[in-house]
Amino acid sequence: MPVQPRVDLDSLPSYVAGRTVPGAIKLSSNETPGGPLPSVKKAIAEAAENMNRYPDISVAKLAGRLAEKFGLPADQIAVGCGSVALCQQVVQAMCGVDDEVLFAWRSFESYPIVTQIAGAAPVRVPLDGTHAHDLDAMAASITPRTRLVFVCNPNNPTGTAVRRAELERFLDRVPEDVLVVLDEAYTEFATDPDVPDGLDYVRSRDNVAVLRTFSKAYGLAGLRVGYFAGPAAVAEAVRKVYIPFSVNSLAQIAAMASLDAEPELLARCEVIAAERDRVRGELIEAGYDVPETQANFVWLPLGDKALEFAEHTLANKVVVRAFAGDGVRVTISHHDENDLFLHAARSYRSNS
Ligand SMILES: *Cc1c(COP(=O)(O)O)cnc(C)c1O
Repeated sequence: MPVQPRVDLDSLPSYVAGRTVPGAIKLSSNETPGGPLPSVKKAIAEAAENMNRYPDISVAKLAGRLAEKFGLPADQIAVGCGSVALCQQVVQAMCGVDDEVLFAWRSFESYPIVTQIAGAAPVRVPLDGTHAHDLDAMAASITPRTRLVFVCNPNNPTGTAVRRAELERFLDRVPEDVLVVLDEAYTEFATDPDVPDGLDYVRSRDNVAVLRTFSKAYGLAGLRVGYFAGPAAVAEAVRKVYIPFSVNSLAQIAAMASLDAEPELLARCEVIAAERDRVRGELIEAGYDVPETQANFVWLPLGDKALEFAEHTLANKVVVRAFAGDGVRVTISHHDENDLFLHAARSYRSNS
């Protein structure tokens, strides 16, 4: 008999990364368009001198810095190799075979993958008619086997955001032994003050955790670093299932340099958010249905036209992220790149 990997992995979908096409603008991975700040580049170059050494396995300096910034004890923080690694670690930390992990669908494509890797069962609750989380339906879908609920806020790929009052109503309905993980990868782009800061609930409740990343607003997608903040016991388990040394030394240094440069980086996010509102407005004017978005991307619920639309924009040298049969997600970039996308979107409508 040949060697046989786990049969249950056969049905596992692969993570589909946004495409990169030479000569085309990439609006497919929700990256920020500005390159690294000079101060961050300098810190990385200096850290490169010590690349023969292993990184700090406990990521202590960065974790301590985050704990101080958020007014949390350091034992409630876990740093990971991007928050996608932390999604997997938190499922491994919480779930065994046949435990249920609940999340909205469509949402971040990693959730079903990391759930199945752990041998747990994904439970998908459809988004509501406005492409937003249906928190009432999610609360009603919790069973005695549910161990963890992901709430992606703002939601990837639709951009919609859960507001404070509805989130609190939901949290009040979740049993105390179920962990709610607020995935806030895009929180820095949210401009509506009613979009909550998940860390408020980490401080006030014992079953809420937050995931954040340096990949999006902080512009470090290539370096791989994110963090978890949550109940101390869960943070400890998340650190246990960490692949040793996977947050590399350059990532640790660059994350701290980015915290030093935070005002500059958040100012960039404001520009992106303003562009987002402009792009959404112009798409609606062109006749598209575009849900409300608080992230650095817009969602076009084009259904079975999604792939055709993406092919059309690609022919116009703009790469977007299509989800077959569902919709297209378009990352907001600089003004000129956004205009090239808008031009392609308008010409699609006039051709079809
Ligand atoms: C991009 C993203 C992440 C994490 O990205 P990393 O680069 O792994 O830190 C997590 N959650 C959502 C919803 C994302 O879109």
